[in-house]
Amino acid sequence: MKFETDAIHVGEEPEFGEGASGDVVIPIHLSSTFARKNVDSPTGGYEYSRTSNPTRNALEKRLAALEGARYGLAFSSGMAAETVLLISLLKKDSHVVACDDLYGGTRRLLGRVFADNYGIEISHVDATDAGRVEEAIRENTKVVWLETPTNPLLKIYDIGKISEIAHSAKAFVVVDNTFASPFFQRPLGLGADIVVHSTTKYINGHSDSVGGAIMLSDEKIYEKLKFTQNATGAILSPFDSFLTLRGIKTLAVRMQKHQENAQKIAEYLLSHPKVGRVNYPGLPSHLQYKLAKAQMGGAGGMLSFEIKGGAEEAKEFLSKLKVFSLAESLGGVESLAEHPHSMTHSSIPAEQKKQIGIYDSLVRLSIGIENSEDLIEDLERAFRSIT
Ligand SMILES: *Cc1c(COP(=O)(O)O)cnc(C)c1O
Repeated sequence: MKFETDAIHVGEEPEFGEGASGDVVIPIHLSSTFARKNVDSPTGGYEYSRTSNPTRNALEKRLAALEGARYGLAFSSGMAAETVLLISLLKKDSHVVACDDLYGGTRRLLGRVFADNYGIEISHVDATDAGRVEEAIRENTKVVWLETPTNPLLKIYDIGKISEIAHSAKAFVVVDNTFASPFFQRPLGLGADIVVHSTTKYINGHSDSVGGAIMLSDEKIYEKLKFTQNATGAILSPFDSFLTLRGIKTLAVRMQKHQENAQKIAEYLLSHPKVGRVNYPGLPSHLQYKLAKAQMGGAGGMLSFEIKGGAEEAKEFLSKLKVFSLAESLGGVESLAEHPHSMTHSSIPAEQKKQIGIYDSLVRLSIGIENSEDLIEDLERAFRSIT
């Protein structure tokens, strides 16, 4: 079936037959343990909820379908998914090549936990030039980690080209697909091996659940990840699994509206006298506009821009918004605005931020699905009130 149909039905087909209720929506299975008739045969295959739970399983099936993957796994957060993935793929003395413009929490996990505590080597490169990834790869490179579009600069990396380079060195390609969502980008079809998500963002879409996901098609790696997930206990709860299943049903319509609004707002900002650079892959002025068009089905709902002046102007502007909430996170139906330099990316040392291009005049917007005229009016009012 097509995306919109799978997003509503996969994992939630009503069951008929003896004892079945025919639920159209899967129940929230809260039971921590599952009884069996005799010692050797668990009922329905379930034993203990950390290992496997019917509501989580339904979500995992749907997550796999969204990315065109054979397998899906649901975790208690995006960072839990990333942790399980990295401890499963890396060994003592492994090396990781990661893009430089990276979710702050991922950079912190790689640098402060894997490098500082376990001696894993990390190289950060600007992967807009795939040649730099090639140069950074070593004999012990196990993982090439990409996030595209990037956060907060919305750079685009060539997933297909970088996957070829990584595979010729026998490294796994992981793509954090949180920003695009599977509606606009399917990395596995472009050559990547594994996709990770913070379902907290677009996939759940309502800013009311923290969760993470891994989707992939390789059976051996899946078994390894499933083992590590059970061994570490990094699972999504039944209630959050239900919320996420519900959220996914509207993913397609939400993404279309996010993108429609974001395009209008990006164009409005582009011609604004108080705005410098605008970062949005849907603008022809974007450096990788063509690549974005080829690789993605749409430019998404995230954008950032530099306000003329500096930190002071950015902070004043942000404090004047009324429809946009001044908050971290993204991907919900409500619009959010934030200051990457001092909020989402505060854990990155100032020198590195400068090097990457995260200046203190940068403002990041997560465009919601409200009426775009109300959003533009809110931005205009805030621009007018800064001195
Ligand atoms: C939020 C986010 C994460 C981390 O996910 P949590 O659910 O907050 O743990 C990872 N990658 C990206 C791109 C994110 O936006």
